[in-house]
Amino acid sequence: MAEQKIGTADNPLRVAIIGSGPAGFYAAESLLKQKNVVVEVDVFDRLPTPFGLVRAGVAPDHLKIKSVTKAFDRTAKKPNFRFFGNVELGKDINVEDLHQYYHQILYSTGTEGDRMLNIPGEDLNNIHSAREFVAWYNGHPDYKDYEFDLSQEKAAVIGVGNVAVDVARILCRTTEELHKSDMATHAIEALAKSNIKEVYILGRRGIAQAAFTNSEIRELGEMMDADTTIPAAETMLDALSESDVKTKNNKALNKKIEIIQNYADHAGTGKSRLLTLRFLVSPVEFIGDDNGNIKAMRIVKNELYEKDDGTLRPRATENFEEIPIGLVFRSVGYRGKPLPGVLFKASWGTIPNRKGRIFNEETEEFVLGEYTAGWIKRGPSGVVGTNKADAVETVKCMMEDLTENKILSPSHPDKEAIEMLLKERNVKYISYQDWLKLDEIELAKGKEQGRPRVKFVSIEDVLASVEK
Ligand code: NAP
Repeated sequence: MAEQKIGTADNPLRVAIIGSGPAGFYAAESLLKQKNVVVEVDVFDRLPTPFGLVRAGVAPDHLKIKSVTKAFDRTAKKPNFRFFGNVELGKDINVEDLHQYYHQILYSTGTEGDRMLNIPGEDLNNIHSAREFVAWYNGHPDYKDYEFDLSQEKAAVIGVGNVAVDVARILCRTTEELHKSDMATHAIEALAKSNIKEVYILGRRGIAQAAFTNSEIRELGEMMDADTTIPAAETMLDALSESDVKTKNNKALNKKIEIIQNYADHAGTGKSRLLTLRFLVSPVEFIGDDNGNIKAMRIVKNELYEKDDGTLRPRATENFEEIPIGLVFRSVGYRGKPLPGVLFKASWGTIPNRKGRIFNEETEEFVLGEYTAGWIKRGPSGVVGTNKADAVETVKCMMEDLTENKILSPSHPDKEAIEMLLKERNVKYISYQDWLKLDEIELAKGKEQGRPRVKFVSIEDVLASVEK
């Protein structure tokens, strides 16, 4: 336990945040806004660039959502904020190190894994997670060399969340549309040669249970060279859904149903690509050819039943169908991955916590000085802004614990010490100033090409540009 009062101008509360996505930035903002506590925040990221999924997850044609980085910039400009990009937990620094340099540590690393379908044939070639495809087209350095077989004519996206809609829409966009986005150049070039003509999106439940939001589903009707349709029979509400929708009497849900029903048996307007939404169906098997490539998927028609908790769940019927398909994206949810030295609840894919305080479920004790926020805290749900309230909840716990002096006692609480450690270890870290320079270069390259931004996709290129 620390002895002197921490959180004053002489002895600021030193906080390390691991992960610079929305949750990390919202936590930093909340910490730096504390009225009676002086906090110094160091945000670490294993990538050289900040912003997590706002840079590498949000769809490249949804530029407006990315303007949230303006708020992150304001936080980063505060004197007690520092960014250490290109610093990986478990490689460049570890949890024991952090305990020696900070009073509190917050993990906001998001979800870097995928849920699986667990059906036969899932390991065939040309079946990918949507997360990998999204990371690739957004220029995430780890995924830049991935290859997706876009010579196929038919693709399917499994799941009806917003990620599934993003992936399907990107597959249907024209090069002209993609050029207006901040998609990585390698992806625009690959997609320009795409042979995809038909895209399916498969929902296991009905239209009233679709996870996507209204603006996203509406956008599917506004694509330059792709039509959207749904078999009319699958837009009908079954009795259970009808009664559920009536009881909920929710304006947004009623609107969603209306938008979807307007796509029913849409004959098409002769556009080059066709996007077909399917509901109440689940893939049960992926069928491969002699080379181990997927050539078809067997799907089963589902019906809904009411669970004890009142939710409507899918149940397989005896009706099967086979659809020829050459490329599949599984978009059934992300999953967190364990961080070295940090507690992890494998069954949930999250860090076990109570309101953001890391909690050891075996000993039923809190882990002193360690906290979490964002998707690794609560699972992959909600939009960017959802992470604000989530981070604020965690910071409230951090402040309460500070009041009770339940904080770590670092042996090197001075601000310069961590820089010295990283330099000693020859870690080439990227500061926020460096990032602003990279940002300018990306925007200038974009301007030259008539695009919003041209992203760096290789860590070597980033480091070379910073050193110039
Ligand atoms: P999500 O919204 O949770 O959707 C997951 C989808 O996968 C659901 O349709 C779910 O169906 C389905 N699914 C799960 N297990 C399945 C299985 N075994 N078989 C078939 N389908 C299965 O997740 P997400 O799309 O990955 O998005 C994550 C979060 O990011 C969401 O909160 C989303 O809104 C947000 N996001 C927002 C935007 C935006 O604002 N534009 C863009 C992208 C992502 P059930 O409902 O039946 O479980």
